[in-house]
Amino acid sequence: MPDTTKLVFFDMDGVLAEFDTEVYRMYGIEKPAEKRDHFFIETDVEKRWEVCEQGIEREGIEFWENLKPIYPMIDLFYECKQMEGIRPVILSSPGEWTYSYKGKLNWIKKHMDFVGDDWIFTRQKGFIADKGRILIDDWDKNIKNWNNFGGSGLIPDFIGYKTEFPTFSVEQIRRRIFGGC
Ligand SMILES: [Mg+2]
Repeated sequence: MPDTTKLVFFDMDGVLAEFDTEVYRMYGIEKPAEKRDHFFIETDVEKRWEVCEQGIEREGIEFWENLKPIYPMIDLFYECKQMEGIRPVILSSPGEWTYSYKGKLNWIKKHMDFVGDDWIFTRQKGFIADKGRILIDDWDKNIKNWNNFGGSGLIPDFIGYKTEFPTFSVEQIRRRIFGGC
């Protein structure tokens, strides 16, 4: 019999872990509380990215393992885990960072120790997409790619930057996963 388990993939940076807050810290500014602008679309992108790159590499594994958890999304992950027929999986790109792989694994152990082997690190998230598979990700490029490969991508509404895709509240995402909308 075919496995009908619904797979729900959770991005890490910007979905389960507060990546932007730490990047703002590197710029020496506090992230505006009322607005969650994503640093990628701000002005002086190249200059900011350079500061960010150097800072992240300098802080090494600790940068990644010390990212603050985003609890509403972690709660949702736990809910999926407890639900029969649904399997949540962490899907994160380690990028080209020297320490991200080990740091991300440490983060998972620290905050989601039940997760076991349910994590995938790849820069090609789209290859994992398929009909019925959900991806929750803060980057519209990833969502576009995921949808192109036949999956269903959702951007949490707390991202706060403009995207060509609709954004969803945590409650709406919950209903998309469990049914009811
Ligand atoms: Mg992300």
